[in-house]
Amino acid sequence: MRHSSDVAIIGGGVIGCSIAYYLAKQGIRSTVFEQRRFGSGASGATAGVIGPLQHIPPTSRATLALGLRSLEMFPTLASELSEAGVDPEYRQNGILSVALTPEQADELKRNLTWQGETGLGPRWLSSREVLDREPLINPEVLGAVFSPREGHVRGQRLVDALVHAASKLGASFVEGAEVTGLETEGRRVTGVRVAGAAHPAGHTVLAAGPWSGIAGRWVPDRIPVRPVKGQRILLRSRGLLPTCPVRSSAGYTLPQADGNILVGATRHEGEFDQEITADAVAQSIADAALAFPVLRKARFVEARAGVRPGSPDGVPLIGPLPEWDGLSVASGHDAVGIMLSPGTAELVADYIRTGDEGPLRPFSPSRFAANAGAEAQE
Ligand SMILES: Cc1cc2nc3c(=O)[nH]c(=O)nc-3n(C[C@H](O)[C@H](O)[C@H](O)COP(=O)(O)OP(=O)(O)OC[C@H]3O[C@@H](n4cnc5c(N)ncnc54)[C@H](O)[C@@H]3O)c2cc1C
Repeated sequence: MRHSSDVAIIGGGVIGCSIAYYLAKQGIRSTVFEQRRFGSGASGATAGVIGPLQHIPPTSRATLALGLRSLEMFPTLASELSEAGVDPEYRQNGILSVALTPEQADELKRNLTWQGETGLGPRWLSSREVLDREPLINPEVLGAVFSPREGHVRGQRLVDALVHAASKLGASFVEGAEVTGLETEGRRVTGVRVAGAAHPAGHTVLAAGPWSGIAGRWVPDRIPVRPVKGQRILLRSRGLLPTCPVRSSAGYTLPQADGNILVGATRHEGEFDQEITADAVAQSIADAALAFPVLRKARFVEARAGVRPGSPDGVPLIGPLPEWDGLSVASGHDAVGIMLSPGTAELVADYIRTGDEGPLRPFSPSRFAANAGAEAQE
């Protein structure tokens, strides 16, 4: 079937599906082309932490602002998606970052200064207060920062909910549809090619996660997105379900709506496969036991791997590609793509509607163009 739409979106992960949803809310029709299944990449394997204070350094001001904007958007998004028919299992019950050594306690307390300036109300809890909240936590805990307004979501459910809600608003979603190239007229992109057929579109968005770098072969510009594999596991423990995501120096222990506990995630630079490895599972179990020793006896439920889309400077690439008309990128979100998804989609949808590149400037892919350094010196 030939799909002709206002916007063609390459990639059915959280970024592509969110863009389709926010475009649909503005009355702009899009088609999402996904080579496998929606959420089958990093988005379905994710830990789903929505914690800008945990993962975005204050020096990365634009990314932090995008994280805070996304955090603000999540409650409305989650209720819209639930109302449309699929609950993304978003929970805003805070994040507890625990200190198990004096050095970790010092660092957490130091960070409280800038974190407090965001207005999100993080505060220090004594070891007694931590144990009152989480009686099965490692008794050697020295204290923790509790950040009450951050949250978490189930990645695969979020993607499913976005597909469902955006479809109701008129967006089209095609699975098993690998985009193999772009349709062009001179320097204008006029659509995408799937299984030898052209699908015309007024604007095309490359939201192919770690594959976005490979798609760079379709255009002379390099898209410097690199693969960063991650693995996480699910456990089930009778008598333990943390009240909120618990972060230690080793990673997260997160309660899931179905009673499972998600533990993760590992990080393997440059690896581009979704295989589960024994050492990652063993490491995850050891990490879980560091926060909650009782998890050594937990039942193993599942392991899953995904590949994060890394960016050279840790800032996502969002916006039009220099020297091309009708083509934008939304990728390079690395370990924070779930968290940044609503804000990213809002930026892209607004840009497509208005043509105003201003709000995208801090994320512009043009910063990696061959002549970017020369331009910056002018
Ligand atoms: C283990 C793990 C834990 C994580 N934890 C967190 C977390 O706690 N919080 C957080 O915010 N982020 C987290 N992340 C990162 C987050 O999951 C990613 O940043 C995010 O999912 C990236 O979304 P995406 O849509 O860009 O990429 P993807 O989810 O990879 O989606 C891209 C899609 O494009 C498709 N595609 C590629 N090429 C083509 C083509 N040519 N044609 C058609 N389709 C194509 C792929 O099949 C894929 O489905 C984690 C990641 C992992 C792996």
